[in-house]
Amino acid sequence: MDVALVSVGDEILAGDTVNTNAAWLGGRLADRGASVERVSVVPDRVADIARVVNEHAAEFDAVVVTGGLGPTHDDVTMEGVAAAVGRTVTTSETALEWLTGEGGYARDDLATGTADIPEGARPLHNEEGVAPGCVVENVYVLPGVPDEMEAMFEQIEQEFDGERQHVGFVTVDEPESALVDRFEELQERFDVKVGSYPGDGVRVKLQSADEEAVDAAAAWLRANADAV
Ligand code: ATP
Ligand code: MG
Repeated sequence: MDVALVSVGDEILAGDTVNTNAAWLGGRLADRGASVERVSVVPDRVADIARVVNEHAAEFDAVVVTGGLGPTHDDVTMEGVAAAVGRTVTTSETALEWLTGEGGYARDDLATGTADIPEGARPLHNEEGVAPGCVVENVYVLPGVPDEMEAMFEQIEQEFDGERQHVGFVTVDEPESALVDRFEELQERFDVKVGSYPGDGVRVKLQSADEEAVDAAAAWLRANADAV
């Protein structure tokens, strides 16, 4: 299953907030075998959210949008997602009932628009905060606050799957340029995807649906490179 992530927020584009939500979701989706094919960051602007979500929803199996929920002036994600799928935004009675029941809020305490989601969308309750998320067509809308986002993702994570990948890491104490031939041989000998990440040594990532292939490739690399 191919997934696109859309992170909404001017503060992410400005560098004020690090996009930890995309990193966390990337890891969790990979654990389930789903493949993140795109991460887009868009400003708090309806037209931009609508265009990017619409394009990604057409191209990928699912889109996970985070941030910009709730009733404040800069929270326009629901409007953008509704426009992306050609719907209007409307108050979800189901979400309101949950907020005033399990959520423990009085209806009058909730700011106008708190429970607004695209028409016909399935609301997702916010166990760590207030603003609900939702699922509409193949678009999942989650909060921006990491704790809230993570708790809400747990409610829907079984909807994401794919061929589980096995991963192995080998750190090599050689310059990356010296490893070109061995990387080629590694891919010829074993059915693995090879990622090379230089930094303090070169971190080599080996990935395959076949666990034995990963183990064999890692053993070969350890035997044929200056592994640490
Ligand atoms: P709420 O559910 O409280 O209304 P929200 O969905 O409106 O939250 P935002 O207003 O977009 O979320 O952001 C809330 C907080 O979460 C901000 O401090 C923001 O910096 C942080 N945040 C938003 N997006 C991300 C992200 N992608 N990674 C990490 N932190 C984020
Ligand atoms: Mg907000």
